[in-house]
Amino acid sequence: MRSRSTNQNRSFPPEEICRGNRAGKVATLTCYRRNPALLRKMSIEMLSSLRDDRVEIVSPDWSEQDIAGMRAALAEAELAADANEIPVGAVVVVAGETIATGHNRSITDNDPSAHAEIIALRGAALAQENYRLNAATLYVTLEPCVMCVGAIVQARVGRVVFGAYDDKAGALGSATDLSDSRALNHRFEINGGLLADESATLLKNFFRSRR
Ligand SMILES: [Zn+2]
Repeated sequence: MRSRSTNQNRSFPPEEICRGNRAGKVATLTCYRRNPALLRKMSIEMLSSLRDDRVEIVSPDWSEQDIAGMRAALAEAELAADANEIPVGAVVVVAGETIATGHNRSITDNDPSAHAEIIALRGAALAQENYRLNAATLYVTLEPCVMCVGAIVQARVGRVVFGAYDDKAGALGSATDLSDSRALNHRFEINGGLLADESATLLKNFFRSRR
């Protein structure tokens, strides 16, 4: 059995990551960011120390605008698949309007930096004639990699909404978490897991068809 002091040292996920609700012996956690599988494990461990019997992980209520943004990003991902590129798509939305789109083009362009996010951010900066995109929300079907989080920070993107979690390369909490790195001096809102199954299925089907 763990000692009390050990439990007290364990920090509860901050509000921005998940919000907890408790009804009797059931604690409900709404995940805004972390991989629910990881959060579930962490939460059960933490909450069991608080003597809860059951933990339920629920999805946040996404806005219609968020769902529309991710649908548009998924359509971009399908364009990538059609071109035999890894199907990841992205769109940039400012004040409810899509100002740029992008999908992976690394093979087509012989460009290692041609990830969906980078292409969408380039387009958005050109459209705004400003490389700073503080008012923008970036929707992307897969958790961004290290390079793309770097670009997101350079562009000062206000909010990132991603679809599937990427255990192998995701840099917003899965493989690593750059969002609170001291080296990256820009904080932004992060919401993960929107239409995650659809994004993951696109990727799975793509890799299966190439085997
Ligand atoms: Zn990337």
